[in-house]
Amino acid sequence: MTVITRFAPSPTGILHVGNVRTALHNWLWARKHGGRFLLRIDDTDGERSKEEYVDAIRADLAWLGFDVDGEERQSARFALYDAEFDRLKAAGRVYACYETPEELDIRRKILLSRGLPPVYERKPDGAPVPDGVAPHWRFRLDHDAAIEWNDMIRGAQHFEPRTMSDPVVRRADGSWLYLLPSVIDDIAMGITHVVRGEDHVSNTAAQIQMFGALGASPPAFAHEALLVGTEGKLSKRLGSLGMASLRDAGIEPIAILALLARLGTSDPVEPVQTAAPLIETIDFARFGRAPARFDEGELALLNQKIVHSISHAAISPRLPPPLTEARWDVIRPNLATIAEAADWVAVFDGPFSPPPIDEADRPVLEAAAAAVCGIDWAADPWQALTGAVKEVTGIKGRALFLPLRRALTGRDHGPDMGELLPLIDKDQAAARLSAAS
Ligand code: GLU
Repeated sequence: MTVITRFAPSPTGILHVGNVRTALHNWLWARKHGGRFLLRIDDTDGERSKEEYVDAIRADLAWLGFDVDGEERQSARFALYDAEFDRLKAAGRVYACYETPEELDIRRKILLSRGLPPVYERKPDGAPVPDGVAPHWRFRLDHDAAIEWNDMIRGAQHFEPRTMSDPVVRRADGSWLYLLPSVIDDIAMGITHVVRGEDHVSNTAAQIQMFGALGASPPAFAHEALLVGTEGKLSKRLGSLGMASLRDAGIEPIAILALLARLGTSDPVEPVQTAAPLIETIDFARFGRAPARFDEGELALLNQKIVHSISHAAISPRLPPPLTEARWDVIRPNLATIAEAADWVAVFDGPFSPPPIDEADRPVLEAAAAAVCGIDWAADPWQALTGAVKEVTGIKGRALFLPLRRALTGRDHGPDMGELLPLIDKDQAAARLSAAS
């Protein structure tokens, strides 16, 4: 059996972190099994679906590195839905309903006030049909067939169809609700595993009967616990946090993958460089049922760790040419993002704007400016420079090192000066010291 998964976003907005997590798990699962990962654009709602969002979804998936093996659009498949709908109607599995929303609401309230579950009550066969009213359509659940599946995350699931309302599948204007087209597509596309949020669990219960009614066996299901923000709720921020804002903040796509692949699982989050270890280890049995907490701070830290271990060979196409391998290796432990690397070019090669001088540091800087010419830059220039200044001034420790770092790099913090100084041209260093003295 070839594993086939799908990611099925509605193009009514940009992808946020929660959608991306679902896409990732589907993609990892397909890749782990040498299967196929399909994109299904759920655009049955012509009003709310926008082409710009379809483009943004494709661009985000590409940026994240999720290669897609095929794409379908629900808006191009209405003929198939009509045909399957007719088949279900002929078999008595969908039926016409005429209640108005107000009537349904009143019935619901009556049932609730009697302490009964607000389950939709079917009309008896032969009940009068109102004149001139276009019906909407419900799927007839088989009350005698208990609904069961072994969820890859949630374990054994059991639903009694008698306790469920027959779901509406098509509106009076002929438009589709999500439930039935999704099942028709999952069958037509040969989907073997449906991975989605646990907010779909009760949909799955109804959909399992739809698979049966259409003569297909249902795929395997994995319903993931929801993603929540640090406050433990599905925050507004989380619901709107898109890939563009993460990209602008300097977050690498692999950091997003590394965090979202493991969040809420019993496997540790690790600063991986490629998706390969995530593909290898994805296992729905290791996913927990408690909500997974997404923390932007954790993502930034993970991103930093990943940046610190990227090799020059892997990153050089994105670096300014003056950042050679030796320079990259020296600066990378100081970077939070790759974009920050560009700021270091000026530290190495100028242009350099001298920092303000503290008068107390003048003796150190003067001694350094005097000593620099005689120093062999090929040996250990920092050792030689600080040694010479210390000998002349008797100053040591921070009072020696900090003014020199400042004068030579323009910064108070940064890489080990012993490693950094040999990578700054000697003439540059001499000019900076004499400018400061
Ligand atoms: N368009 C649906 C959603 O975004 C798809 C759900 C599914 O994966 O079946 O919730």
